[in-house]
Amino acid sequence: MTVLFKDVLVYHPDGITGPVDVLVSGQRIASIGSVTARPADQVVEGRSHHLLVPGLVNAHFHSPANHLKGSLPSMPLEMFMLYESPDDESLRPSPREAYLRTMLAATEMLRNGTTSVQDDAFLMPSPEPDIIDAVMLAYRDCGIRATVALDQPELAETDKLPFLEGRRDPALHRPAPMGAKDLLERYDYLFSKWHGAAAGRLNAAVSISAPQRVSPEYFAALDELSRTHQVPLYAHMLETKVQRVLSSEQARFAGRSLVRYSADLGLLNERTNVIHAVWVDDLDLDLIAEAGAVVVHNPVSNLRLGSGIMPFRAARRRGIPIALGVDEAICNDRADMWDVVRMAGLIHNITGPDDEWPSAGEVLESLWSGGAAAMLRSQDLGRVQVGALADLALLDLHSPAFTPLNDVFGQLVYCESGSSVVLTMVDGAVVARDGRLTAVDEDALLDEARELFSAKAAERDAARRGADRLLPVYAEVVRRSAAVDVGLDRWARRR
Ligand SMILES: [Zn+2]
Repeated sequence: MTVLFKDVLVYHPDGITGPVDVLVSGQRIASIGSVTARPADQVVEGRSHHLLVPGLVNAHFHSPANHLKGSLPSMPLEMFMLYESPDDESLRPSPREAYLRTMLAATEMLRNGTTSVQDDAFLMPSPEPDIIDAVMLAYRDCGIRATVALDQPELAETDKLPFLEGRRDPALHRPAPMGAKDLLERYDYLFSKWHGAAAGRLNAAVSISAPQRVSPEYFAALDELSRTHQVPLYAHMLETKVQRVLSSEQARFAGRSLVRYSADLGLLNERTNVIHAVWVDDLDLDLIAEAGAVVVHNPVSNLRLGSGIMPFRAARRRGIPIALGVDEAICNDRADMWDVVRMAGLIHNITGPDDEWPSAGEVLESLWSGGAAAMLRSQDLGRVQVGALADLALLDLHSPAFTPLNDVFGQLVYCESGSSVVLTMVDGAVVARDGRLTAVDEDALLDEARELFSAKAAERDAARRGADRLLPVYAEVVRRSAAVDVGLDRWARRR
């Protein structure tokens, strides 16, 4: 199939060009210039006021919380996680539930021009094949490009957090619901059935969740899997101050940060997505730069959970690629990359003098080049270029956000909310047009999701009440960690 974008402006990191014609043939951009429409071409008229940009990349996401948006008050990550995904048997999803919740955010993303998502899917209590299938089928059906990993902890709570020694509560000592051997079998299933599916649009990745949540052996096995398949390894690192403090509180880290610990294991490399990197120090950033790893910045989530502000400028100065992510619908609470872009463009302005502040161009580079780098797809994603995959969003500049057109970079970062997006294309196929998905009955989806998740609300609330018991313990972990001097600060506090 061929699609011809006629008389469109085209985004380029150096500015916009056009109006020109952009021909998409199959999955890729075939030509950019003056193209005469052939009868078989599906023509999209740009009328010289539509801008073609690369599809947005959501480089970090957890789909299993898609149905929980807005349901928790803001609280520190360690307390939040008690309620986010209790490994409670009563909350085990049905395949239909997993399908619907995946679809909820996928539709939101596609409507707004997000064409790629890296889903670090925690499938609690355990990632069973029918649930893996349900997630992947949702991504297959809606048309988004998805790379999915199984974000499953392997160790007990006492291993993951400081200041829990001496606590007797069995819940803190219970092993994770599934051990390394079974998890690796689930990865076999994920890779054999879904890696490269839908003509390469669906892929597998691997996830350790975080270095403190797994054994070095499981970490190494996943890194080996990522090397074999050349796929990203997702690792939350130094998201919170508690995680910084952990290094001096647990013998296995011997005073080393989680980044340094990973590097010392030989497990920090160009395939690693270092997610968050808020409480990193200079040595951590040097190690990340040396390894060629990518940092995934999630500014809205970091604000919602009060995690702190990632040192954007210090990372940029070292040439570290930075990608952007939503994180998840329960701590964002939107699957909206425009909102993340705007926040990335603003939040660093309160961290110091203006040499710390990102330019609009740097934010867009993070969104597109950084996102492609995180996916290990720099060669064919994140750009509107002949030969690149046709993952595109078409924005109507005849809209409040772009009228008058003063500075397209500034307006993309600070003005656009997704409401100017009139068409989204993934892999050469039009998947959303005029705010509606082409392959999904969104009304039926919303009706079914509303009914199904309302019916589960009582179980969710009961599981959360069960978690209340442990809240004082976790609050104490956060309070004690906050009081430790770690030699750096990532909170913008008043003095
Ligand atoms: Zn995350």
